[in-house]
Order: sequence, then structure tokens, then C-alpha cells
Amino acid sequence: MNYDAMFQSALDGLRADGSYRYFAELERRSGNFPKAYHHGLGRDVTVWCSNDYLGMGQHPEVLKAMHDALDETGAGAGGTRNISGTNHYHVELEKELASLHGKESALLFNSGYLSNWVTLGTIAGRLRNCVVLSDELNHASMIEGIRHSRAEKQIFRHNDVEDLERRLKELPADVPKIIAFESVYSMDGDIAPIEAFCDLADKYGAMTYLDEVHAVGMYGDHGAGVAEKMGLSHRLTVIEGTLGKGYGVVGGYIAASAPLCDFVRSFGSGFIFSTALPPMIAAGALASVRYLKRSSAEREGQQRAVAYLRAALDKAGIPHVGNPSHIVPIMVGEAELCRDLSDELLNRFGHYIQPINFPTVPRGTERLRLTPTPLHTNEAIDELVEAVSTLWRERQLKRSVAA
Ligand code: PMP
Repeated sequence: MNYDAMFQSALDGLRADGSYRYFAELERRSGNFPKAYHHGLGRDVTVWCSNDYLGMGQHPEVLKAMHDALDETGAGAGGTRNISGTNHYHVELEKELASLHGKESALLFNSGYLSNWVTLGTIAGRLRNCVVLSDELNHASMIEGIRHSRAEKQIFRHNDVEDLERRLKELPADVPKIIAFESVYSMDGDIAPIEAFCDLADKYGAMTYLDEVHAVGMYGDHGAGVAEKMGLSHRLTVIEGTLGKGYGVVGGYIAASAPLCDFVRSFGSGFIFSTALPPMIAAGALASVRYLKRSSAEREGQQRAVAYLRAALDKAGIPHVGNPSHIVPIMVGEAELCRDLSDELLNRFGHYIQPINFPTVPRGTERLRLTPTPLHTNEAIDELVEAVSTLWRERQLKRSVAA
């Protein structure tokens, strides 16, 4: 058997339909973000597609906390949480995250992906006859967790309250149910009708599982996410978040009741049998969460950059998805064109925006996904929109009506 030939042929398929992923090798230099040194080009570029949404990855308080904790504790955690790997930074961070979301308890994971996979897999897999109602645009980590649980899954139409209710109505009253959804959807930047979903959960006796990965640090007075902003945190059974995007470090977590967190801690194999996050990571994340709890300047700076970018794109007639979040997708609609535009923006103009193609988004909706941060100046935004406009003009691409 020629196994490599099998692998290669699958990869050729990706290349043929333009969805093969090429990595840009970037050197992020602390203090230099949103610029980064691009190895292929041999020069600095402006990064427009980072999930270090607030630039916390280079914040002095975060860096200091990590340096101090590294010197204090060493490199790694030394074990799984259960076997010698629980450090006081893990414990402090879990307390801080529970309090941030107004929950009794929180549980850390090595990534947001794992927090979804393990939590949904464990709850839906262990509660007899559990049914998971999952938004059709949920992230792969939730989908895989639900699959892994082998529980019955019902996929409801994206953000569709009626479709969700129609499905809930048909389920027996006495089976456990989980409504799993996100607050800010990462590719379109639209926001779920959280309150209406909570109302349905109450009416039909379901749990609510909210992924706030693209919202924590950025929304609400303390950065606890959209649920905080809407005053709904107390109505959600589980709030899940990441420490790797708005908070700029790495790791994931859930915040929920004490019994629920203890249940996942006690039965979740992907939690139990994996080395804990290094204490310095927990220390850095703790500093970041605490900082963004008291400082709104980064959130405000981000909103300023987002509003400025949207207005500039509107003025130039560049079609982008209008939504109430910090995610600004420029719609292209063809994989090859999307890659081409991205290449030209990089090579000619020094703006790095990774093309987003199938399977991350449906075919025909390929896009350049922009996530301006508080560190993107108005001048940088003007330069970017000028470059995009030039490409639109040269290639005679369709403008939006505003132009
Ligand atoms: N949930 C959503 C909605 C995501 O977009 C992502 C990552 N892009 C994750 C979870 C996983 O989070 P992490 O990157 O911390 O693994």
C-alpha cells in the first residue's frame, strides 16, 4: 500500500478546488502589532486578520505576569490537573472566570476547541437520552463534541427561533436537552438572539450552552461577552470562552454551576488525561482577564476602528457584511479570486488578510475577513481601503450600492 500516495491524492483534491491552506510565516514582535515580519516577503506587513482582537498578546501587564510566573514556576505544569498539575494560578484563574460570568464555578481547558469538545461530549454523552439542538453554523469544536457524545442531534436553522421551537416542541418533556449556539458568529459577525433562546430553554426545560469565544474581553462592561452586555449571563447554563483571542494568550474554559463543572471535571476524558496549561499561561490569562475587567479603553478603541473601517468601506463601495460586531467580512464569492486578492494585497500593498474559503465558509461566500483592533490607526485603515479600492477598480469588481 502506498499510504503517502493516498494522502497526496486527498491533498491534490484540496489544491484543485482552491481550498488548500498555505501558512504565512509571520514573526510577531512584541510591541509591533498589528505589524508583523513576513518571512516570505522579507518585510513588515500590517496584519488584518488576527484574533488577538485587542492586542492583549503584547500588553505589558500580561507579559510581566507571564515572565514572573515563568521564573517562579518553571516551564510546564508538571502533570494533569489531577496528578500534580494544579497550580495556584489555575485555581485563581478559574475563580476569576467564574466571577466574571457570575457563575459558581469555572473549569480551564488547554484550548477553546477542547472546552467545547469535552464539555458537550461529556454532558450529552453521559446524560441518558440527551438531545442536542445545535445551530447550523456552530463551530467545528461543538460539532465534533456532539458527534463524539453519540447523542441525538438536531440542527436548527441559523439563529432561527421558530425552527428551534418547532424542534423543541416535538421532543419528549422528560429528556435532557441542550441548546448549543454562539454569541458572535466568527465568519459573518452576526449575533444570536440569546434572550429568545433562553426563553425557549425555560419553556421546554432545556440547558443553554453559549460559545462566547468571539466575544469575551470585547463586550459588556467587564468584558464578559454579549451575555453580560445584554444582562443575560444568569440565564445561561454554560458560558464557554477562550483565552486565546480577546485575552491574547491561549486556553479555553467553561463557567457554569458547581455541579456541572465538577461533572465535566470528573467525567471528561479530554480534561482528565491531558497535561494542564503551563502556570505562566494561566498567570498571563489571569492578568489579561483582570485588566480587561477594569479597562474599557481597548474595547472602545476596537469599536472606533471597526466603525471607521465600515464607514470607509461603505464610502468606497466595497461590499461587506453589515453586522453589529467587530468582524468585518469583505465578500468576494470565489475561492480563486479571494486568494488572488489576498496575494495582491500582501505582495503589492503589504496588507496581510488570509482568504477564507470552503470549508470554513460555504462555497460562493468566500471572503476576506477583517478584524481591526484598537491598534489599527485611522491612517492604516485608510491605506487598506485605498488598496482594496484599487484592486476593485482594476479588476472591475462589483461595488455595493453605497458607492
Ligand atoms: N469556538 C469558536 C466559535 C471558534 O471560532 C473557535 C476558534 N476559532 C473555538 C471555539 C476554539 O477556540 P480556541 O482557538 O481557543 O481553540
